[in-house]
Amino acid sequence: MDFDVINPATEEVVAAVPMASTEEVDAAVERAKAAFPAWRAVAPGDRARLLRAFAAQVDDHADELVDLEVTNCGHPLGQARWEVANLRDTLYYYAAAPERLTGRQIPVPGGLDVTFHEPLGVVGVIVPWNYPMPIMGWGVAPALAAGNTVIVKPSELTPLTARRVGELALAAGLPEGVLQVLPGEGPVAGRRLVNHPDVRKIVFTGSTRVGREILAASGPRVKRVTLELGGKSANIVFADADVERAAAAAPLAVFENAGQDCCARSRILVQRPVFDRFMELLEPAVRDVVVGDPRKDDTEVGPLISAAHRAKVASFVPDDAHVAFRGSAPDGPGFWFAPTVLLAPGDPARLPAWTEEVFGPVVVVAPFDDEDEAVRLANDTEYGLSGSIWTRDVGRAVRVSRAVDSGNLSVNSNSAVRFWTPFGGFKQSGLGRELGPDALDAFTEVKNVFIATE
Ligand code: NAD
Repeated sequence: MDFDVINPATEEVVAAVPMASTEEVDAAVERAKAAFPAWRAVAPGDRARLLRAFAAQVDDHADELVDLEVTNCGHPLGQARWEVANLRDTLYYYAAAPERLTGRQIPVPGGLDVTFHEPLGVVGVIVPWNYPMPIMGWGVAPALAAGNTVIVKPSELTPLTARRVGELALAAGLPEGVLQVLPGEGPVAGRRLVNHPDVRKIVFTGSTRVGREILAASGPRVKRVTLELGGKSANIVFADADVERAAAAAPLAVFENAGQDCCARSRILVQRPVFDRFMELLEPAVRDVVVGDPRKDDTEVGPLISAAHRAKVASFVPDDAHVAFRGSAPDGPGFWFAPTVLLAPGDPARLPAWTEEVFGPVVVVAPFDDEDEAVRLANDTEYGLSGSIWTRDVGRAVRVSRAVDSGNLSVNSNSAVRFWTPFGGFKQSGLGRELGPDALDAFTEVKNVFIATE
């Protein structure tokens, strides 16, 4: 069965991509299993060289990948360039890993204790549609570096770059079966990867709803899982902050990628003495966000991914919503949605846009009185992925960073994901961590062997 891939900026069908059946997933797992013994045996230096060649292929085809991603996702050019660079750099980063993945030797009386980091086998990487290339890379690069074979299942909505990246891996010299890309539907191909007895680990990025299902399905086989799920991150602005800077940065902290970002700072908390000033500064900043044709160089925000997703986002802004102000968006074809700033009179927790992940360009702003209230509001969510703290007081920055239940925070910045640091969520935002030097641990089993010498 083919799936029509749609350009969300034009609503045109740009490709028809075959969706893998359960039997095709099973065949891919067989190929990955068959490729595993030889791949794990490749000398670390050679595996490193192949990963560097893979990264170089991505770099050599950057323009083509950018073009595909703009067409498939409606991402603005500048953002799509960042996405290709992130995939390339993540591959280079983990290309340094195979030669450093050494065990430990402990001489003990009567013998030698040796630890090995063994690859797991076949790893399934299930990718969402919001950042197809980077998120694919965060799973694939450390999994391959550690000696696993990998099957990637991209989102049915955004399979085009993943397919091309799979071809580039072969062109770089990765042996057949080491990295396979299998477009397919979640409840068919995704579910089969999760339930397949020979898939030893699932790396899943997507909604908390599907993440829960994957965790439950993995239980009976004690399958290893890494889950990167939803978010409802807070952007906390204290009265002692550089309010101009905080207000200037706030729009793209939530509206970048049209808000389709698990780290979107979709709740802005502002300390009461600077609340009015902040809103005065925020309004022109939101109106200035350039939403439109992703192929224009000055465009900052593109369309939403689909008509269905736009309808879901719109449901968070009912007719009686307290809209403070809106930015602009084009009319006509394309799944456009204007950046929207909501107020939360009374208890913000009564507002679905405050409690649920919108995954669109909608933000709620609410005041707070003191540090304790800011922390309480920030933590009043089932999620715990990201967030920002704006203050000039270093002590407060550290106190609040420690008190907010979130995997990735930034102080006086919106930075969210860096491939050299661990990334992942508290609470229902996920399980385990990706990226950084320790991600290899999630793709290996530690084995200890005692060798008697007497
Ligand atoms: P989704 O959960 O609908 O789908 C994600 C992937 O899972 C897709 O490839 C889909 O085909 C597959 N899938 C769906 N049902 C499945 C099933 N039953 N079994 C196995 N696979 C299945 O999510 P989405 O709409 O593609 O992406 C948006 C969500 O992803 C948001 O909630 C967002 O916060 C989250 N996300 C999280 C991170 C993070 O790092 N924490 C990053 C990006 C996106």
